[in-house]
Amino acid sequence: MIYDYIIIGGGVAGSVCAYGLGKKGKKCLILEKNSRQSEKVCGGGVSYKALGMLEEIGVATEPLFLLDSKRITGHVIYQNGGCKEKIYCGGRVSLGIQRSLLDHYLVCAALLYHTQIQYGEEVTKILKNGGLYDVNGFLAKELVWASGARNISGGVPGEQSIGLSGQIAAKVNLAEDMFHYWYFAAEDYEKYFWAFPIGNNLWNVGVWNRNFNRELKKDYQHCLGEFFLDKVVGEWNYLRKPKAEFLGHYDQRKPDSYMRNGIGDFAGTCNPSNGGGIHYAIQSAVEYADTVFASDLQ
Ligand SMILES: Cc1cc2nc3c(=O)[nH]c(=O)nc-3n(C[C@H](O)[C@H](O)[C@H](O)COP(=O)(O)OP(=O)(O)OC[C@H]3O[C@@H](n4cnc5c(N)ncnc54)[C@H](O)[C@@H]3O)c2cc1C
Repeated sequence: MIYDYIIIGGGVAGSVCAYGLGKKGKKCLILEKNSRQSEKVCGGGVSYKALGMLEEIGVATEPLFLLDSKRITGHVIYQNGGCKEKIYCGGRVSLGIQRSLLDHYLVCAALLYHTQIQYGEEVTKILKNGGLYDVNGFLAKELVWASGARNISGGVPGEQSIGLSGQIAAKVNLAEDMFHYWYFAAEDYEKYFWAFPIGNNLWNVGVWNRNFNRELKKDYQHCLGEFFLDKVVGEWNYLRKPKAEFLGHYDQRKPDSYMRNGIGDFAGTCNPSNGGGIHYAIQSAVEYADTVFASDLQ
């Protein structure tokens, strides 16, 4: 089997790209290093813009709300011990969800159109074989990098921001239809603590910092105690323990090499001023698939 495209990474960008290419008749293979159930380090906040973009390309988003997820109508910002701002998104609805559920849903959308996926396939080497790419023994005419903020050897190039998040199972005295943000350092908007409802009595909590910071763990523990745990009713426990990960603001594409086609965090699309990346990952994947289509027409 010779695929038109091998897509490295089965996150948001990789699946949406496969969906877009597959709809245009391209045979795609996604190679994903983790298992299907693996839970990504992410906040799980999917903006109404991201959902709108999925709808535009034909991916229905309503079924995502039937999973164990939350319908979000706005966000609350807290500062200096009080509520600074409440922002409603004019009737537009965002989504709080576990990434394993979102990513699987998007993979399934791609599988409907000429796409296959192999889980547990970490790509560490690319070979060129008679004009074709040979990746872990799979052959394709073209490659797309959708492997996130890290490069193929696991390193993080450039200056990336960093987040640390965990998932807590608990009943919590906070509005369950809002994303909650706390700016915990005076006048410093380059770091914040969040609590996002992502399921039935399930919360994603974490800290984001624009600059790599050794105090991240300490900030997280402090904010968790100060802003979140006092609102927990009864017992709580971690569904996923807190873990740090970088975000992709650095474009790793290399125009004259096999790394020229990159999307999502790999191409540095994540927003450096707040760490939001899902909507940009979708946008870059859609744009890439459209470019392919346009060049096919020429
Ligand atoms: C702590 C934290 C919180 C965040 N919260 C939010 C949020 O609430 N809302 C939001 O919009 N954005 C958030 N982001 C950003 C968001 O997670 C990313 O922008 C988004 O996931 C980028 O999608 P992607 O498909 O480019 O990369 P990813 O989602 O990272 O997907 C890349 C995929 O490639 C796979 N992969 C990597 N290397 C290889 C390899 N060598 N071989 C095979 N597979 C490989 C990975 O396993 C992964 O599945 C957060 C990020 C962090 C770190």
